[in-house]
Amino acid sequence: MTVLPASESHRLSLTARIFIGMLAGVFIGFLFKLIMGESGDLVFSFFGLTISIKALFIDGIFNGIGQIFIASLKMLVVPLVFVSLVCGTSSLSDPNKLGRLGAKSVGLYVMTTAIAIATAIFMALLFAPGEGLNLSTDTQFTAKEAPNLVQVFVDMFPANPIASMAQGNMLQIIIFAVIFGIAVSLSGEPGKRVSAAFNDINVVIMKIVTMVMNVAPYGVFVLMAKLFASIGFDTILGLAKYFFLLAGLLILHAFVTYPIIFKILSGLNPLILLQKMRNTALFAFSTSSSNATLPITMDTANNRLGVNSSVSSFTIPLGATINMDGTAIMQGVATVFIAQVYGVDLSISDFLMVILTATLASIGTAGVPGVGLIMLAMVLQQVNLPVEGIALIIGVDRLLDMMRTAVNVTGDCMVSCIVAKSEDELDLAVFHDMQAGIRKPE
Ligand code: ASP
Repeated sequence: MTVLPASESHRLSLTARIFIGMLAGVFIGFLFKLIMGESGDLVFSFFGLTISIKALFIDGIFNGIGQIFIASLKMLVVPLVFVSLVCGTSSLSDPNKLGRLGAKSVGLYVMTTAIAIATAIFMALLFAPGEGLNLSTDTQFTAKEAPNLVQVFVDMFPANPIASMAQGNMLQIIIFAVIFGIAVSLSGEPGKRVSAAFNDINVVIMKIVTMVMNVAPYGVFVLMAKLFASIGFDTILGLAKYFFLLAGLLILHAFVTYPIIFKILSGLNPLILLQKMRNTALFAFSTSSSNATLPITMDTANNRLGVNSSVSSFTIPLGATINMDGTAIMQGVATVFIAQVYGVDLSISDFLMVILTATLASIGTAGVPGVGLIMLAMVLQQVNLPVEGIALIIGVDRLLDMMRTAVNVTGDCMVSCIVAKSEDELDLAVFHDMQAGIRKPE
């Protein structure tokens, strides 16, 4: 056992430091907002130089460092997914297991998304957030065509895996990595050498993840400072009912629906899952991107929750792409809200269409900031609602995007744990150990 030196053992855990970075960022952001006042900037002269606070700090230092932080997370995603998935599949002793893993995880992801959107529609009809509102907009939006089922499947297969990697097309990368991994496992001695090399590369990539995580408190600080210095809270007042209903439903989904599903399907204590998700949820919250958070989600699933990497290397990247329960909830509430504002009555078949389109759209779209609105455009188009309605909610979407991304990644880890438990690939000792995988800054 390694005993930490006294100075080390008193160091705060990384989660605590990230949390402090986040709060400090919110505080500093507000302070800047206050200093810049109504005009949104403060310009003064210093030794003949004209200095704009907004250009120097908000768009300059905070924005620049924040972008570099997000890029460092994103740069890890493609190599991490590819390498860990090749390691995972090439180590599977039973090829049938892969089919089972795929069926179980896709089934659970689709099921939770459908539950999320159905609950959202029901609650939105109950609370009627758009009734009596008279909002108008002259912004134009054009919706992309909603994907059809055949196209969704065809698009999963890469014609050029290098292009898939360059574009970060997650489903294509997953398919190629799985095929490559299976081939490695079938290739005898040479396969063993390739597999060993991939395992070594995996260790190196995880080292980079650790390095990036060590600077996360600062990254999160600048992201929050930039956001809270520029966000307009007055828009929330006008849309208070929509905002709070949606926020409430996201919280309900994370803290009530997930625990129930988790308990029923795995028999494990959901409070442990939620507690261990804090770090990842903070990352998701500050980056608004399931994709950028993927290295952290993977680390949590493996080291904090005890999911064997042969399962997490498959379920987590898949989840980051096709599982967006938080986003689905937004789409349910937003569709009802927009229908009510425009005075359109939706029929039961319209609602079924909304559920189907939102679920299919979430399969084909990557988890990046704001993508929920693009999916919403497809959904509105399908049920003949005015796509311009999106302009009504766009003002409050930034904060809600942060919240729903935190829900999305929680769902990814939950499904990963359930699948791992059912395959006997969950290390229960790690799962129950509250200290497992906690990181101290190195
Ligand atoms: N930002 C979300 C995610 O990455 C997607 C969205 O709802 O816009 O999971």
